[in-house]
Amino acid sequence: MANLIFKCPQTGMNVQHWLAEEPADDSNFSYDTVVCQACSRLHFINRSNGRLLGAEERD
Ligand SMILES: [Zn+2]
Repeated sequence: MANLIFKCPQTGMNVQHWLAEEPADDSNFSYDTVVCQACSRLHFINRSNGRLLGAEERD
C-alpha cells in the first residue's frame, strides 16, 4: 500500500491520497484519478512521482 501527497491546484492545500491498487510494472506513466478531499474535484495524479497531470498548463 502506498500513499501520495499532492498539492491541490484549486486550493493550494496538500492532500494525502492512498493508492488503492498496486501499479503494474510498466505503469510508470499511468495516472490515478483522485477525488480531491480539499476541493472535491477530480485530479489526475502520476502514480510514479505523485505529480498532477496538467498542473501547470491550461487549455
Ligand atoms: Zn483539489
